[in-house]
Amino acid sequence: MNVQQYHLSTGINFSFKELIDGISKIIGENFIRVFSEAGELVNEKLQNFKTTVPLSKFIKDFEIFVSRDLNHALFIALEIGFIQLQTVEFLEIYENENRVDIISLIRKKFYLKKFSERGKNIINFLEKNLGKLSPNGKFLANSNFIKKIQPLLSISDLERSKLKKIISVFNDDVIPINAISDLLKEDYVKVEEFCNNSGFFEILYAIICKKCDTSLLTSTEKEKANSILNDSNNYCTLCKNKGTLKIVEQYRINEEIRLGIQQGLWLELLVKEIISEYCNLFWIGRMFETNELDAVFFAFDRLFLIECKDTSFGQNDFYSLAGKAEALHAIHIFIITTHEIHPNVKKIVDKRKNFKIICHHESDKIKDELRGIFAYLQENYPQMWLRYFVHQLRNF
Ligand SMILES: [Zn+2]
Repeated sequence: MNVQQYHLSTGINFSFKELIDGISKIIGENFIRVFSEAGELVNEKLQNFKTTVPLSKFIKDFEIFVSRDLNHALFIALEIGFIQLQTVEFLEIYENENRVDIISLIRKKFYLKKFSERGKNIINFLEKNLGKLSPNGKFLANSNFIKKIQPLLSISDLERSKLKKIISVFNDDVIPINAISDLLKEDYVKVEEFCNNSGFFEILYAIICKKCDTSLLTSTEKEKANSILNDSNNYCTLCKNKGTLKIVEQYRINEEIRLGIQQGLWLELLVKEIISEYCNLFWIGRMFETNELDAVFFAFDRLFLIECKDTSFGQNDFYSLAGKAEALHAIHIFIITTHEIHPNVKKIVDKRKNFKIICHHESDKIKDELRGIFAYLQENYPQMWLRYFVHQLRNF
């Protein structure tokens, strides 16, 4: 079985009915037009074939032509919804060699673009233009770095927000336990447990003076701190007191974890993992001219652009993203953010039908929504449905 898909761009005054009538006149003799009137009745009729058309946000109207020998079907769907641009999709199924060359007949009247050529062109374009890694892309192309920030995807959102808070206040400083405890408003034991067991912190041993409250020296090795304490005869050179020194554990956030949080790399990694479940044509963290792209991928015959924001997404972010989307001819644009979007910005984004905001504080909800969209696209991909339909028609 061979499936081919073609696209036809539609103008402003495009009429689907006129197109179908036109095609009907061209191919009418050899083909039966299954539904002369589309609409609600169609699915009712289709139930005879134990199927229904996956009428979705994408498919607004459609018609099916079937050759009299049932070896050849043509599915014409008007797509709208997510996509601002209207396209008409032609799907052709045939098995025998003596098929009517339906497409070349239609081509005499309408300008068609073949799907495979179109897809190939897009992929060539991306391969040629997205070769350079962005600053974030360089981190995400480094497998050692990914290994180190991977745990950020498996911790709870609460733990991640704690880390975020600690980093925003202390950055890469050495932090005493009480400072973390004060910041998070949590008791020592709990904080100590988190800092010691999460693997996100480097533990440092500081010699401090209980009397003058000064940190005299910090070492990454406990042994070294011990020997320095012994050598000092437990004498504080600052307040000149004896027996006032002790060793306490202090913490510094690991560099990779800090970058992973500060630059929102954990979110980009999360998105990358979901994308890779559905396609293998993707580009993460790339430069396109002077613009940074978080994620671009080609799947379901469509070009997707994803922008990740672990901070707030504002109006300027939108205009910059819209510019990138336009230059790339991206069909679907997802804004994935962990922060609430201001209603005014939301209003602007919502006006663009092909932009979608995925906004959740919880990473699991982001994953679920993304997977839901992909599963939906996969399921509704018309090729599969048409194969099934023709199969049912033959057995009818
Ligand atoms: Zn002292």
